[in-house]
Amino acid sequence: MALPPCDGGHCNTVDPEIQAACTAAGWPGGTPVPTRDINGVLCTCPCSCLAFGTMVEGSNAFKAIETFVVGDEIMATGVDLDWSPRPVVFSAGTTGASRQKNTVLVRYQNTAIAVTHDHLFLLAGEDKELKRADRLTTQDRLVSPDGQAVEIKGVHIGEYLAGFHHVAATNTDPIGEGLEGHLLNTNGIVSADYAVQVTALSQSVAGFRADRNESAPVVGSDEYIAAHGRECLQTPELPAGFDGQSAISIASVNAADADLASGTFIPAEATLVRVPDDACSFLPPDVAEAKKASPKRSFSDATSRELAENLITHHRAFYPDVTYHLDWASTEVNAYAWVENGVRHVDLKGGLVRDMDLEIEGVSLVLAHELAHHYGGPPVGGSGLSCEGQADYRGVSVVMRKVWFQEHYFLMADPAIAQMAAFFGVPNSPTAPGGSAGCAHPAGACRIATYHAAVTFTGKPACAG
Ligand SMILES: [Zn+2]
Repeated sequence: MALPPCDGGHCNTVDPEIQAACTAAGWPGGTPVPTRDINGVLCTCPCSCLAFGTMVEGSNAFKAIETFVVGDEIMATGVDLDWSPRPVVFSAGTTGASRQKNTVLVRYQNTAIAVTHDHLFLLAGEDKELKRADRLTTQDRLVSPDGQAVEIKGVHIGEYLAGFHHVAATNTDPIGEGLEGHLLNTNGIVSADYAVQVTALSQSVAGFRADRNESAPVVGSDEYIAAHGRECLQTPELPAGFDGQSAISIASVNAADADLASGTFIPAEATLVRVPDDACSFLPPDVAEAKKASPKRSFSDATSRELAENLITHHRAFYPDVTYHLDWASTEVNAYAWVENGVRHVDLKGGLVRDMDLEIEGVSLVLAHELAHHYGGPPVGGSGLSCEGQADYRGVSVVMRKVWFQEHYFLMADPAIAQMAAFFGVPNSPTAPGGSAGCAHPAGACRIATYHAAVTFTGKPACAG
């Protein structure tokens, strides 16, 4: 079950409390935060932000974004680009370096800026439009503080090890038609302040065409790659003489946080996880390939990413001797289990986690299946891991029972099986078909029957091998 997203004013009304909770918990911007109004809604840690070190123009000089405090003077304008100093009315952000997922690195002139995916830039042109960072392409043009169009040389998505921060130069209520006092000079280009960005998350704001932003492909998605190429996932080429105003460095491999300097961008492609050929999978290759065409959540969907990470954290407590991977940048619809150099691995691929048929319960069943390849016992295949039907049965009968306490087991298993039936495109029926899959993947209807049998402890059906 998924909570409905924030539908308007509620997240804004409780924004200071959400901000405080996010800061206290050390959650990066975009982390989903459940809150309750009459519907129960999902807000997100409010940080449509700039990476620490991003230089923003104050009344006397440029200063790093995180050094502005309430009352400091900052240069602000509306779409008329008539700049004047104004006191900062809001200043907040994360407390220090953490991995900001879905960071967009935009290259222009001889520099670059790192922002969260929902940061809003002013575009050049008559329309005076604002565009989300995760929808930018090299065909868009940004705006310099004196109104010149600025070509975009590259748009990259990845993770960024840094704190993120934002300020507002003017209060949210009301935001004028010309965005007066809400546009800032961020590293030589014009972007919106926090007040505009937080408002644009839930309601219309001058200059922000929600429809055009929503319908544009997200940087890193298959649709975006088809239109604009794979460069968005790859290591950005910083030119000789790169003006590192923001001290951005680029990692070529996905090292541990402790081994990376603050201010390091890790391009999405560097985070891809290599799976050995003999790994066990959740789906056979032909089914996995066909599932690529079914509807997916957005590449920058924080909720599905966080639910998978949350599940991994939870399962690690019960199964600590496994190295877990969430391969978010992969569009493959699958999950894997393998042993390499004596180390057990489980890997959830981004395309599976983003599949619209699966919510937290369905992804939890997939994770249980992969753990049961390691701990499900005989019959085993050539790699020494449990056969597919056995992983299905023991995943739901043992792993899910161990991980989810008493009634929470049913709260997870029942919807998980319903989601799996939708995912496989078969009826949610406990009746097993005939035949036997041996050690290979049983057909969808057999897998659903196996999950039901695991809940009721009626024994693995013959079709599951
Ligand atoms: Zn499997």
